[in-house]
Amino acid sequence: MPFTVHGLPVSQGIAIGHVHLISHALLEVNHYHVAPRHIEDELARLDEAVATVQGELVGLKAVTTSGQAHSEVGAFVDLQLMMLADPMLVDAARQLVESRRCNAEWALVQQMEHLVEQFRQIEDPYLRERQADVVQVIERLVKVLLGHPGHLPPKRRDGLGTIVVAHDLSPADTIGFRDHNIAGFVTDVGGPTSHTAIVARSLKIPAVVGLHHVRDLLEDDELVIVDGTRGVIIVAPGDEIIEEYRLRRSELEIERSKLNRLRDTRATTLDGETINLMANIEGPKDLPAVKSANADGIGLYRTEFLFIGRDNLPDEDEQYEAYRAVVKAMPSKPVTIRTFDVGNDKALNGVHSRMEPNPALGLRAVRYSLSEPKMFLTQLRALLRASAHGKLQIMVPMLAHAQEIDQCLALIEKAKAELRAEKLKFDESVQIGGMIEVPAAALSLGMFIRRLAFLSIGTNDLIQYTLAIDRSDEAVVHLYDPLHPAVLKLIAGTIATGARYGLPVSVCGEMAGDLAYTELLLGMGLRNFSMHPGNILEIKQQILRADLGELAPKVQRILKMDEPARIREAVERLVA
Ligand code: PEP
Ligand code: MG
Repeated sequence: MPFTVHGLPVSQGIAIGHVHLISHALLEVNHYHVAPRHIEDELARLDEAVATVQGELVGLKAVTTSGQAHSEVGAFVDLQLMMLADPMLVDAARQLVESRRCNAEWALVQQMEHLVEQFRQIEDPYLRERQADVVQVIERLVKVLLGHPGHLPPKRRDGLGTIVVAHDLSPADTIGFRDHNIAGFVTDVGGPTSHTAIVARSLKIPAVVGLHHVRDLLEDDELVIVDGTRGVIIVAPGDEIIEEYRLRRSELEIERSKLNRLRDTRATTLDGETINLMANIEGPKDLPAVKSANADGIGLYRTEFLFIGRDNLPDEDEQYEAYRAVVKAMPSKPVTIRTFDVGNDKALNGVHSRMEPNPALGLRAVRYSLSEPKMFLTQLRALLRASAHGKLQIMVPMLAHAQEIDQCLALIEKAKAELRAEKLKFDESVQIGGMIEVPAAALSLGMFIRRLAFLSIGTNDLIQYTLAIDRSDEAVVHLYDPLHPAVLKLIAGTIATGARYGLPVSVCGEMAGDLAYTELLLGMGLRNFSMHPGNILEIKQQILRADLGELAPKVQRILKMDEPARIREAVERLVA
């Protein structure tokens, strides 16, 4: 009998294929004592496994740096390599083999349990989450020791793909899927913002996570359908259901190829208003995707990805090269580069190791930059130097106070004066903007409007801070609601105030790239959207069907509502 299991949709699309269960290697570990004369062999076995895993990770690193996967993933591979080299992990396990004569797998699992317990007691959520990396590294080692390093099956001949089913998958595992004709994946745990989900999206593999005990419900080779758009898997579907999903899948493919035809069409609404569709990027490696979507510019360059996951900081020249590469690739189009937004869930190795009671409310984004003026000045100099090559604009994240932007502007003046003295070129009229991500800023726009040339609404953080929901905490993910009336009022108010003062306003949070909110944002008066480049053409298609004259009064009525169900219904009805 067919049945369905519901989870969280994290990567869109439909996959039909046969289950390949990935065993939970850590549950299969035998415990035994090694004879004293075999201790040396056991240690050699452990060392060999470490070398193999190191090799695997270095291989994965090569894939990530060749631009085929998310740069964040490269950072995580680095982190796992570092853990592998950490004496707390392998050396401690070696000692257990030597002193207690444990077999290598058992020693590793004991040490893992010990470390996980230590991580659990850490207050900093970012560091606490790193226990997952410890488990993943040990799991890799154990798989190698057990002689089944999680090999994926060869390509099937029946035209169907393989659906990987696992308790959890590391981003590194996910990258490995590319070469194995993996059609989709499903896991017991995970959330939409997990790094594994991010990689799945960038590889365009349909995925559903958070399915709890799905591994126990499925058998190897069983036929399943993964609907990554709705977050459902259909187990043992009959012929009719398979046919229906095949049809939906080919419709989706046709839709996607039709979308490419919109590449060179401007995003103009039915009543003639042209909307700017810009891209969010994390570095020059995202430029091919920006080009293929023909974005109207870069609305958000998250420069912190240059800084995180490494032991040294990028110097002025390294930063300058990265910023210049992006600016030069976008001739005559605006490139909005955000000053580094570290802290919270994006910590710097070593530098940001202070234990914070609540990192989301602590020293992050502009607060961190101002606390490290030397490091900030280096970035500002690099940005200004790159501004000589195109339409670069500088954007400051997470503003809440007027003095924050005053201090930033003073530092920019200082950087300019230095460059003038050194006879280095830069754009004298470079535009400075700020992100509206904190309710306090959205409610006191005047002081920012007087000081800045443009605003960009970071809805991801604006929602987090308005609703007091840690966006990286899976336990409260169900409360993260972009349609909460308070959130809508703050977004609409910012857009309207910007328009009144003639200051350009954009939205660069996830809402801008989500089809569910396109009409709503248009109706609020938004004319500048910035999103993952992969979403641009879809959003453009929706804009081409929209009529602003009709939307604006409807959205005004929605903004007066305060009953969530009614708001949701009314927003759904806006979609043409
Ligand atoms: C946001 O908060 O909406 C945003 C775009 O910034 P980030 O997601 O990088 O915090
Ligand atoms: Mg933000």
